[in-house]
Amino acid sequence: MCSACGCETSGAEEIICRSCRSSLEQNFSVKTGFISGRKFVYGYDYCGEIRQVIVNCKFNCRKELLPFLAGIVEKLMPNRMDGKVYLVPVPSRDNSEARFDHLAGIAGCLAGGNRTQLLPVLNWSRSVRRQVGLSRRDRLVNLTGALCLDGPLPASGDFIVFDDVITTGATFLAAAAVLPPDRTSGLMLAHGEDPAGVEGASRDAKE
Ligand SMILES: [Zn+2]
Repeated sequence: MCSACGCETSGAEEIICRSCRSSLEQNFSVKTGFISGRKFVYGYDYCGEIRQVIVNCKFNCRKELLPFLAGIVEKLMPNRMDGKVYLVPVPSRDNSEARFDHLAGIAGCLAGGNRTQLLPVLNWSRSVRRQVGLSRRDRLVNLTGALCLDGPLPASGDFIVFDDVITTGATFLAAAAVLPPDRTSGLMLAHGEDPAGVEGASRDAKE
């Protein structure tokens, strides 16, 4: 079954049908955003096929989608070859409805490359309220200081905070706050709408 549209696919190994695959290819582009002066890149607006794929991976435990999502991350990585790049995934939350740590899974698929190194150094310093239903301001307050470092940072190299969906950017800012400002940026699969919009009210809106 196709993980994006639910149609019957021709083979069991085909996890995304041809039509959804081509739509996903067409809708992808490397886009740049800024939140409080922090730069991040993302590949999609959080809707349509990509949203279904993320939801199926995260909430329905379709782990066979991890390599596909890792492929998107790869396309979003900077092309620069000099210096080390550390991918820093946002840790899953205790109160998340996600059934497994899909971000670590995606990052794990990338760990084979020699250029990018996985650095799972972030941890929640306290429990945070679920972000769904909170205003933008409340989300920022909710997450300020909520992430901490769980170990030492390498002395050189660039850090890329990795998350699936960015909406208000509160999680990204909380992560960036504990990493070197001049060497930290963000990478997200998709950009969701602000909480006032439709996306924020849904169960799968993460921030
Ligand atoms: Zn499909």
